[in-house]
Amino acid sequence: MKKIQGNIKTLIECPLCGQFEATSKQIRSHIGGFPISIVECPLCGLVFQHPQPTQEKGTNYFNWRYKTSNRGKSQVNMYLSDREFCSQISHARIQWIRSITNGHRFLDVGTGNGALIYAAREAGFEATGLDLSQQAIFKAKEMFGIDIRKADITDIHADEVYDIITSFGMIEHLRDPFEFLKTAYNHIIPGGTLIIETMNYNSMLRLLLDKRWYFFLYDHLFYFTPETLKIFLERSGFINIQIHEVPHSANVTLPKHNTKTTGILFKLTHKIKYAVYHPFIALRYPLILKTAKKMWPQDWKREILLFTARKAK
Ligand SMILES: [Zn+2]
Repeated sequence: MKKIQGNIKTLIECPLCGQFEATSKQIRSHIGGFPISIVECPLCGLVFQHPQPTQEKGTNYFNWRYKTSNRGKSQVNMYLSDREFCSQISHARIQWIRSITNGHRFLDVGTGNGALIYAAREAGFEATGLDLSQQAIFKAKEMFGIDIRKADITDIHADEVYDIITSFGMIEHLRDPFEFLKTAYNHIIPGGTLIIETMNYNSMLRLLLDKRWYFFLYDHLFYFTPETLKIFLERSGFINIQIHEVPHSANVTLPKHNTKTTGILFKLTHKIKYAVYHPFIALRYPLILKTAKKMWPQDWKREILLFTARKAK
């Protein structure tokens, strides 16, 4: 390893395409300020943490985020603990899922506080939720009265099959996304659907905020783009892979703050305040907007990637 302008250049194994030599970007995680090291494969564009934090450190961080989310004002943490917010997103998700899928056997992996399972059962799905986090299981019981199975998809019985498998904001946490996608494929019936949601690295906001991007978290190991996620899905056996507009996301306005955040005056004041506190970001905005539009004409606006993929009949 040799140091180049404060960054570390090293030989790295890309999960998609082989070895490459890369300069890592040293960042502090948006929540907690933990040091993370990001690399971008120059061949396929895959972005990931290298080295990855140990399993133990990653799990501890995630549990800590859950425990502290009640106190935090950060919108990134709201999806963990705000009941009204989670219900609103989950109902929108279930409505959308109902409109694009067939069948009623529904599995959500990395389900978190149980909001989605609650909404799915209300809509008539036979819904099961899996999560490895003890904190998530506790929250699901506390917030929605839902029992979540403490399991990973690789723990479920080989005969267990579903019409629909979903995973929202989960795949970026995994040490091996291929293992998850290939296992999910095996548990989906022919003609069934996989739904994946994660954040988009190739978005205008990531480019604009750079190291301050709020999705740079210690437990986010992979940062997908429309292209790299599509390759992962194709190589896991899926067909008819499509990207969708997000009918919901962690960026929807909190119901209880609706009146405050929807007015034109509020938006304008918010923009002015932001420009005062972050003048360099504000100054960069016009150029970044132009660059992002040119580089990613289809996807520059998407902060969140929502994919559906089918298993052949
Ligand atoms: Zn690569």
